[in-house]
Amino acid sequence: MSVGAPRTIQNFIGGAFVDPASDEWVDDLDPATGELLHRIPASSAEDVDAAVAAGQRALDGAWGRATAPERADLLDALAGAVQARLEDLAALESLDTGKPIALARKLDIPRAVANLRFFAGAIRQDQTGFQAMDGAFNYTLRRRLGVVGLITPWNLPLYLLTWKVGPALAMGNAVVAKPSELTPLTADALAHIAAEIGAPEGALDVVHGLGPAAGQALVEHPGVAGISFTGGTATGRKVAATSAPAFKKLSLELGGKNPTLVFADADLDAALDGATRAAMANQGEICLCGSRILVERSVFEPFVEGLVDRVRGLVVGDPSDPRTDVGALISTAHRNKVEGYVALAHEEGGEILCGGRRPELDPPFDQGAFFEPTVIVGLPHTCRTATEEIFGPVVTVHPFDDEAEALAMANHVEYGLSASVWTRDLSRAHRVAAALECGMVWVNTWLLRDLRVPFGGMKSSGVGREGGRWSLEFYSEARNVCVAY
Ligand code: NAP
Repeated sequence: MSVGAPRTIQNFIGGAFVDPASDEWVDDLDPATGELLHRIPASSAEDVDAAVAAGQRALDGAWGRATAPERADLLDALAGAVQARLEDLAALESLDTGKPIALARKLDIPRAVANLRFFAGAIRQDQTGFQAMDGAFNYTLRRRLGVVGLITPWNLPLYLLTWKVGPALAMGNAVVAKPSELTPLTADALAHIAAEIGAPEGALDVVHGLGPAAGQALVEHPGVAGISFTGGTATGRKVAATSAPAFKKLSLELGGKNPTLVFADADLDAALDGATRAAMANQGEICLCGSRILVERSVFEPFVEGLVDRVRGLVVGDPSDPRTDVGALISTAHRNKVEGYVALAHEEGGEILCGGRRPELDPPFDQGAFFEPTVIVGLPHTCRTATEEIFGPVVTVHPFDDEAEALAMANHVEYGLSASVWTRDLSRAHRVAAALECGMVWVNTWLLRDLRVPFGGMKSSGVGREGGRWSLEFYSEARNVCVAY
């Protein structure tokens, strides 16, 4: 599992590591240097078919008969093994994504452990409904879906994979996971961990490859009863169109263009620290990032000054250096897209107050996909730069005059994932939280997560909720039994 010379990654099907049927492969590059890291299977429908069959065999065998405490024990064993390899896994995640090692150590891998442990606990504690009637009573059975397909993006690879694997296995499903082809390493490591701890063969299968081939085949497969997809809105639309005719259960966690609202009565230092983190964490490559900051006009100038100071202070460079705040973007193609949005901001009349270009770094990082954290003002809140998801270290800042205008600006975009509101006025905080069109609102904080709460978006940010009991419900079918006496 260690970071070493380029090697070949294989699919994990039915408990065995196997080459793709086509013997075709894709290169996995280091985003910080452009060097070849590994080659991964370019899996096809044939590999997906083998994985779904392995999942079904697991369900027909001992895994299908495992009790809730036994499934919880498996998740706890996975969590323990991930925890024991925290350093190795953080290094792999940082290498594969370009994210700072400090973030992978603090956020990605600990959250993966927490996800697995949380759903182990959740299934041990799970309760279902009971409704008494005159002369009868009802109780609810929750039955697994069967083989489920989990499709995950590159920005938080192990974090998001375990967010799905945890509840899917807790409910007794078999899992076929298709990680992003840009970040296969920690999914591969999780497969090795599953093999090492003796997870039931076929309960967890991993098929690597390209979205339009392997991902599409998974969504289309008639043996897959449910799909949990996290990724971009355009891909989500395709996944929804493909799975709808078969009435597959579907969870879609999609893109965002999340507002940070700063009112004049806020603790400005706290708001500045929060807004900077919300904009730039993980290079701005988190669906929940606050990429539009709306600031009450009376504090606009000091806010922008404080923001630029903080953003200029961020250290950009070698992801493996623990002092790095902003690492490489996921690929040069993605960096070019982000750069294109900065050029668009120029055209749309924006003023770039800091960043806006590639940093000058020493070799080998001069070949990497780096981009300086960028603050832009002077744009109408309706322009493309301020309404389309950039998914990079680029934030636009806009003034507003009153609460009604702030809400209109916040709700103007097609997305509705999250928002963060900074104010000391308790009534305003609740009023604004209720009026925002999004699935999650933070007040005087950002990305503070309790795994029991509903997670997900509205409008073009997705369909359905995951987290806590919402995840357990998604990965199962409720069946009512009515008994007359
Ligand atoms: P993406 O391009 O939509 O890819 C997501 C996953 O879908 C990848 O594994 C991808 O495989 C696969 N895929 C592509 N085409 C497919 C198809 N036709 N059928 C089935 N699967 C297919 O997204 P991304 O660029 O990896 O991730 C960034 C996006 O994810 C952003 O929009 C971000 O906001 C969103 N995101 C949302 C959340 C949330 O919880 N709401 C969390 C994180 C990220 P390949 O990579 O191999 O193409």
